[in-house]
Amino acid sequence: MFIKEDARYWKLEMSFVLKREELPHFSKHIVSKGYSLFAPVKKEGRSAFKKIGEDHVDEISLDYIRTTMPPLKALLIPPKETLLRIKDGRIEEVLPNPADKIAIMGVHPCDVNAMSLLERVYTDRPEDPYFKARRNSLLIIALNCKSADEYCFCTSFGTGPSLDEGFDLLLTDLDEGFLVEVGSRKGAELVGDFYMPKALSTDLMEKDETIRRAKGMIRKHVNTAGIQRIMTGALYNPIWNELAGKCTGCGACNMVCPTCFCFNVVDEIELDSGSVLRSRTWDGCLLWEYAEVALGGNFRRDLSARIRQFVNHKMNYWLNQYGALGCVGCGRCIEQCPARIDITNVVARLRGELL
Ligand code: SF4
Ligand code: SF4
Repeated sequence: MFIKEDARYWKLEMSFVLKREELPHFSKHIVSKGYSLFAPVKKEGRSAFKKIGEDHVDEISLDYIRTTMPPLKALLIPPKETLLRIKDGRIEEVLPNPADKIAIMGVHPCDVNAMSLLERVYTDRPEDPYFKARRNSLLIIALNCKSADEYCFCTSFGTGPSLDEGFDLLLTDLDEGFLVEVGSRKGAELVGDFYMPKALSTDLMEKDETIRRAKGMIRKHVNTAGIQRIMTGALYNPIWNELAGKCTGCGACNMVCPTCFCFNVVDEIELDSGSVLRSRTWDGCLLWEYAEVALGGNFRRDLSARIRQFVNHKMNYWLNQYGALGCVGCGRCIEQCPARIDITNVVARLRGELL
């Protein structure tokens, strides 16, 4: 019989400690295995993911709460990507090279869970070959959160601040370095020939304490009980007009959201080669052009209808489409909104929890 103590034993068997000063060496080790490595670096006071060359591993900084752009969405569905090239009547698919191995290090739990939601969208029929090719080449080194700020509300959805699955390796920042837990065969292969001491049960206890502290820092919350019924009952609530009076229609909320998956398809002519390139670019329901059709028609001309769509898609329609809510509580849309519109407040007001 597999009892709780056995689980803890096996967890220890597959857990290691990476000393803080060894992080650059481990990063070089990943690059030496043929991976293109992406990791967070500090840039003008913010953290952003970038591709890390072997000579720049010292720039990696895993001490951050949230990047402006969602790292996994940006890697798997780039903001702009060419899908097809059409020349001389021939259509050539421009698919990612399956031999290109990508590793991303330092992704927080909410973003890993957002990627799992994107997987439902992009592997649902019809399967998206561009997403699938990149996902198959991707190795995820996730990072449990050790702190949270006033925008985080992942605990409302169980999408953070820690992770149980969806990673190849999982890091937790401890006093002496990083606890490294193995989550897949690819992850095991990566640590297999890089020496790290085995973790002790005290390291696992320190991990639990780190996560407990991070949870305690989360102040925002969305009450999801019966949320679909409440949202559907509020389709004609005056709140949508009130929010439209504040919203600028900039679409920043869509662009920074790790679960927003809409794109537009455009054709561009390359004059020198005579080819036509068909590309897709990120699009979002808050943008006026999003619902525009021929002859000047627009199904969501009113900003109130566009905001209602954004909030309802996350908190209502996703459940019927993909069997889960479409928000992971990363807080990006709240932090980046120039009008200070807060999706948690909108839901609380619709529930009658706030006036
Ligand atoms: S709706 Fe806002 S908080 Fe939720 S996942 Fe998108 S950006 Fe994050
Ligand atoms: S970020 Fe704020 S202002 Fe901009 S479209 Fe979204 S809700 Fe409106």
